[in-house]
Amino acid sequence: MLKIGLTGGIGSGKSTISEMFRRRGFDIIDADIVAREVLNKYPEIICEIKKNFGERFVDENDKLKRRELGNFIFSVQERRKKYEEIIMPFIIKEIFFIINELDKKGKQVCILDAATLIENNLHKYMDVNIVVWVDSSTQLQRIKNRDKLPHSEILNRINSQMPLQEKIKFADYTIDNSKSLENTEEELNITLKEIVRNFRGVKCLNKLGTN
Ligand code: ATP
Repeated sequence: MLKIGLTGGIGSGKSTISEMFRRRGFDIIDADIVAREVLNKYPEIICEIKKNFGERFVDENDKLKRRELGNFIFSVQERRKKYEEIIMPFIIKEIFFIINELDKKGKQVCILDAATLIENNLHKYMDVNIVVWVDSSTQLQRIKNRDKLPHSEILNRINSQMPLQEKIKFADYTIDNSKSLENTEEELNITLKEIVRNFRGVKCLNKLGTN
């Protein structure tokens, strides 16, 4: 199965492009969804959260109070790092589990949409990596429109991530999402045609890549 990693910066358009892939019939693994699902699947995570951050972030049914914990860890780097240390191994394990399941079903291609694909070294397990590019002023404006956050908070969030310029270095393909959605669709079509050319053995790519 051909594994395609899809990543980029905050608000660069990963979800938008992931949706374009979905409409073309591709199977998508959304790392944000996996990050929520592992909380139900692996009770060990809740145990570790209680141990490290206290009981107050878990309700009487042992469900994580996501917003409270998010507020508590977001602005303090060490807390965020600790949380990632706890949850990331489970997210990675689950992603590989899903990839394996798709493979067993005979799927020919899957897309892994993950904001921290490169930071977590997952790109090394992908056959192709796509980075979604957006120029910084468009990125800022789109996040502002979407999240209604103050300018300084948006800058904080952008600056807490690996710079997009850095991510580009790991990309086999870059999709420029700075312009209209139609333009991005066209960029995606071009990228898919190139992937089809490079991976002729992958059956359903021919059909999917050209529509
Ligand atoms: P995050 O990492 O924060 O989840 P993301 O990389 O998934 O973000 P999106 O949510 O896809 O980014 O896009 C950010 C915002 O910009 C959304 O509100 C989306 O609708 C809008 N957007 C994305 N691409 C375009 C485009 N080409 N033209 C106009 N708006 C766009």
